[in-house]
Amino acid sequence: MHVKIRKNVKLARYTTFHVGGPAEFFAEVNSVGEVKGVVDFVKKNKLKLFILGGGSNVLLPDKGMKGLVLKVNIKGIKFRNNLTSAGAGEIWDNIVAKAVAKGLSGIENLSLIPGTVGGAVYQNIGAYGMELKDVLDSVEVFDIKSLAVKRFSNKKCYFGYRQSIFQQSENPRYIILEAGLKLSKNYVPNVEYPDLVKYFGSKKASLSEMRKAIIKIRKTKLVYPSDSIGTAGSFFKNPIVSSALFNKIIKQQPDIKGRETDRGRIKLFAGQLVEEAGWKGKRLGSVGASEKHSMVLVSYKGGKAVDIVKLSNLIRKSVKDKFGVDLEPEVKIMA
Ligand SMILES: Cc1cc2nc3c(=O)[nH]c(=O)nc-3n(C[C@H](O)[C@H](O)[C@H](O)COP(=O)(O)OP(=O)(O)OC[C@H]3O[C@@H](n4cnc5c(N)ncnc54)[C@H](O)[C@@H]3O)c2cc1C
Repeated sequence: MHVKIRKNVKLARYTTFHVGGPAEFFAEVNSVGEVKGVVDFVKKNKLKLFILGGGSNVLLPDKGMKGLVLKVNIKGIKFRNNLTSAGAGEIWDNIVAKAVAKGLSGIENLSLIPGTVGGAVYQNIGAYGMELKDVLDSVEVFDIKSLAVKRFSNKKCYFGYRQSIFQQSENPRYIILEAGLKLSKNYVPNVEYPDLVKYFGSKKASLSEMRKAIIKIRKTKLVYPSDSIGTAGSFFKNPIVSSALFNKIIKQQPDIKGRETDRGRIKLFAGQLVEEAGWKGKRLGSVGASEKHSMVLVSYKGGKAVDIVKLSNLIRKSVKDKFGVDLEPEVKIMA
């Protein structure tokens, strides 16, 4: 199968941070056949491979990337009863919109998360009390090692908090082609989150009202990329710490919030820690921590990946010094 492989393609326009120098080679694929063609080219020329979806969770280097950047555009959405399948290159929020319109629930709280279906699976996206893993049935992938198409059940994806098996090796082994979701015809609103409790009060939210509410809340609370601002959403994961460390922290600062997770560990809010460390709205040249959400790092006009990395390291150091907590990036940093 013939695929157009371009040279020296600037990556900034393919990422929501709006940063990234040229890819040595760049290919966009629309089918499994084209994926095979590109993998052949990569193997024949012994190139490094980087997979790109919507570019909404990556920080790519200013100097560009050696090897080949593969942008997955594979499309196709099918609904069969409550089973939905979607090509990895479909825009995630289009799937949510279509599911809600058909009265299928399970992903409505994940409305308006940028990026593709492939990126959503890779990251196990989550928001407002829902995670993709809760509805994911199976994932079809192209295995670069065996050159075969394979299907992973939910269990075999080893999902965790913003984690999946697809992140496990430095050089990618699996190219996600399609995801199957098991949605529900019986809607039970998930209104655990304080923002939703506040929004709905005692009113019972319908499925479409829930999607509308999530969109409204996200638009007022979050920073979305625009021509003048680049961002990849939350730059850091919410750290999970031992109860001993949590107790030590709240002895010093009782307003620090934590939620108990399994095995008695406590999930803290990265945004609160970054804010308490004094970073909210701070700028470092052409990059900064957002005024709305301190764990969202933003690049203004002329912002560079190196500056974002520098800023994130300063933030991590001050959170470590103040609270003894290690912040891990949620964004895939290639810079
Ligand atoms: C404003 C904003 C708000 C956000 N809010 C949320 C949120 O509420 N919750 C949340 O979880 N995330 C959130 N994000 C992060 C981001 O939207 C998600 O992580 C999204 O799923 C990334 O998808 P993508 O297609 O853009 O992936 P990319 O950024 O292109 O890639 C991310 C990673 O996935 C890999 N990848 C992508 N496609 C494939 C594929 N087909 N096969 C194999 N690997 C692949 C890439 O190699 C890379 O390592 C937000 C981002 C922004 C900018």
